[in-house]
Amino acid sequence: MAKKQAPKVEEFQYQAELKQLLHLIIHSLYTDPEVFLRELISNASDALNKARFRMLTDKEVLDPEAKLLVDINIDKDQRTFSIEDSGIGMTRDDLINRIGTVASSGTMEFLRELQANKEQKEKLDGNLIGQFGVGFYSVFMVTDEVVIETRHIEKDSKGYRWQSDGQGSFTIQEIDKPTRGTRISFTFKEDKADFAESFRINHIIKKYSNFVDFPIQVNNETANQVEALWHKPKKDVKDEELNEFYKFISNDFQDPLGHLQLSIEGAVNFKALLFLPASAPPMVLRPEDMTSVQLYSNKVFIQDNAKELIPEYLRFIKGVVDTEDLPLNVSREVTQNSPAMAKIRNTIVSKVLGYLADLMKKEPEKYDTFFDNFAQMLKMGVNSDYSNREKIIDLLKFESTVTDPGKKTSLKNYLSRMNEEQNEIYYLSGESRKSLDRNPNLEYFKKHDLEVLLLSDPVDIFVVPTIGEYEGKKIKSIDKADIEVKEEEASEDRLNENLSTSLIEVFKETLGDKVEDVIESRRLVSSPATLVVGKDGMDAQMEKMMKMMQKDFAGSKRILEINTGHPLIKNLSRLNLGSSTDPLLRQCILQLYEGSLLQNGSLASASEYIDRMNEIMVAATQE
Ligand code: ADP
Repeated sequence: MAKKQAPKVEEFQYQAELKQLLHLIIHSLYTDPEVFLRELISNASDALNKARFRMLTDKEVLDPEAKLLVDINIDKDQRTFSIEDSGIGMTRDDLINRIGTVASSGTMEFLRELQANKEQKEKLDGNLIGQFGVGFYSVFMVTDEVVIETRHIEKDSKGYRWQSDGQGSFTIQEIDKPTRGTRISFTFKEDKADFAESFRINHIIKKYSNFVDFPIQVNNETANQVEALWHKPKKDVKDEELNEFYKFISNDFQDPLGHLQLSIEGAVNFKALLFLPASAPPMVLRPEDMTSVQLYSNKVFIQDNAKELIPEYLRFIKGVVDTEDLPLNVSREVTQNSPAMAKIRNTIVSKVLGYLADLMKKEPEKYDTFFDNFAQMLKMGVNSDYSNREKIIDLLKFESTVTDPGKKTSLKNYLSRMNEEQNEIYYLSGESRKSLDRNPNLEYFKKHDLEVLLLSDPVDIFVVPTIGEYEGKKIKSIDKADIEVKEEEASEDRLNENLSTSLIEVFKETLGDKVEDVIESRRLVSSPATLVVGKDGMDAQMEKMMKMMQKDFAGSKRILEINTGHPLIKNLSRLNLGSSTDPLLRQCILQLYEGSLLQNGSLASASEYIDRMNEIMVAATQE
């Protein structure tokens, strides 16, 4: 009789990135080793949710009658630990592709940034591990070797054992495993022996995992209360529970900034608990990659990231939505096309926007924290959610010439400060508040006490011009030549018309087709010259962005405004009277033009500018 051959053990190498990440987690960071339990329980709970969801529509599975629970066993004397779930289990492919790899591209980017930036490295905390999508590996903080035994829910699946010491490779071997689900086991490191005490494990479960929807047993005793927090009446929900629940569902380690509990009955029925995070995720995530709200149907988990329930511009919201309006055998397709989902979404959007408006009014400091973190996302709503556009615009804030650096004003508050004669809302965009404050185009507005919004968030130039009008007031860039300025009283100090016209001619001749026009400025106070954009041109910042995106983007020509009351311009006029072809005069004109380009960040190369400056200085210092 042929002997059954022992299944072969296959060895695999970790992905290079995973190795790096593991090294960081285990060796160089301050970490809180107890998070390993939270991560393992959360994986078990996800696996149970997936099994329960699958069985809504498919009864032909392995162990259809298995009780859905998490079973933890510890042995104090042996220092051993095991956690077993009757969840969906893993196939051989899952073991290779999900356990052995870093899936999220955000994680990779974050890692690269970490390596380049020491300061960031110090800020990183073991608590963040769940956000890397490698939570499982936190076990290596407490043990030197881990075994996973698993079998997928598919009826004809096979069992596998995965084993690794977290150093760089793992092995996989086929095994006999009669039941579905996953069992993870290991021995605690000597200095982590205190985790092998049931009171310690129970304590950690209370802290992190009280909201798991399935019973968790520790050495055969139930350790958690199974409850759906969002089904409790508002008044019975404690702040502490809310904070813990938020951390549980979001992987965040900080308390949320605020929350919103909804219980909606009528045309659509649902309950929801929604949270506003206190800070933006540590990794640069695109909104479409952010996990926002979980969908439940009658307390049964359906979907982790129900994208249909919340538009991209509000994806910073985390939480749960539980509805009775979906059919019992819901599938993903049903959730995608269901009219109930669309109704829930509309209600959520309007409640969240209302909540933010309230926060802005009643807790401005909190609102500003929120806005500093998520303004860029929120602003996307202006041009994507037309039905709520006005409400979103009311939530926006900008720096301005009357706010201190870093502080922002709403358009409504801007309006309240406008004087009667002011008919337009002004803005100026640029790279930073500092460079904006020095922009000569502001001089007129400062002199006349006209507030100007100072936009330095790069997305503003795509959003603010599209707002167009607010409460009947046009929103205008002061970079434009057609801005409404009061005619200054003809000042004795200025060049007379003849001198000015003649000088402007020389400017035009010298600059040729570098500029669209040269005109006498009515807005400059203390600077000699500035560049503005024609009525239909783009403002400088917008043009710069376009050039960054499109290499061959041809910008529009600018109009040079000169201040005929300025001593320099008057000196030039004097040179012009001597000879209109005076080389110094020509050089100064070019220098004024390039200086203005430099000012708004559009001078392509400074070398000619500097050569010319040196020549001018030679002339100025000659005996
Ligand atoms: P994350 O849970 O953030 O995705 P993990 O490293 O904790 O990252 O887990 C990676 C993947 O391994 C999970 O997404 C899941 O597909 C699989 N997995 C982990 N634990 C289990 C389990 N107990 N049952 C089934 N699948 C699991």
